[in-house]
Amino acid sequence: MAWRSSGTSNASLVENLWRNKLITQPLVKAAFLRVDRAHYAPSSPYHDSPQYIGHDATISAPHMHANAAESLLPFLLPKVEEGHQSAEGVASVQGRKGRGRRILDIGSGSGYLTHVLAELVGEDGLVVGLEHILPLRDLGEANMRKSAEGRALLEQGRVRFRVGDGRKGWCEPGEEEAGWDAIHVGAAAAELHEELVRQLRAPGRMFIPVEDSHGEQFIWTVDKDAQGEVVKKRLYGVRYVPLTDAPKG
Ligand code: SAH
Repeated sequence: MAWRSSGTSNASLVENLWRNKLITQPLVKAAFLRVDRAHYAPSSPYHDSPQYIGHDATISAPHMHANAAESLLPFLLPKVEEGHQSAEGVASVQGRKGRGRRILDIGSGSGYLTHVLAELVGEDGLVVGLEHILPLRDLGEANMRKSAEGRALLEQGRVRFRVGDGRKGWCEPGEEEAGWDAIHVGAAAAELHEELVRQLRAPGRMFIPVEDSHGEQFIWTVDKDAQGEVVKKRLYGVRYVPLTDAPKG
């Protein structure tokens, strides 16, 4: 699948992801078009493959980022209260009036997906990128500073990069009880960590690669409905770097 969607520019990469039905929702396509992957991938940015970014980390392949954004979309867009404007027929995130969502991106690495997610939550949303390696926290922020749009997101406090162990989730200081409408995990977990499920709002969705006892990894979605019922679904096989302890020293 990887080679099929590669492009020679950001626009052609996104067009190929669209043509191959890896991106199917116009708002997701618009968000991908707004973020130049060259600001985040140190080499071959328009190739549909992962690239090494240092510290044993990779920026995931564009088709995986596309799939994550497509899956999480209903929990990213501003939440329109029932009886108000319908979700359909709204051409832009800016045109949607509703409560901004709170999103946690665990293992933010290059910061690329963090930025794409921020394009989807709109002006009142918040995306927190969480890394356990300080230089990678800083890399995500520095990459985002390369564009005027990225700098504005940081300056307006709509994106924050933090350091911590993602297996325990994350609480913003002073916002301990707020929880997250969506949690994206960018590294393979050894289990579906209960603390992450607890921090999901009701309703909310988590997108997480999990490694099983045979060493095989699968993407799971964990949905919490408005009543707090949790449904876990195993989707398809993947290859991610593991969610680990932070290196010593
Ligand atoms: N979404 C990123 C993926 C980076 S690779 C991107 O596409 O650029 C996975 C990342 O998870 C690495 O940056 C790694 O440092 C981070 N990571 C691994 N274990 C972690 C943990 N316990 N807590 C937070 N981040 C972790």
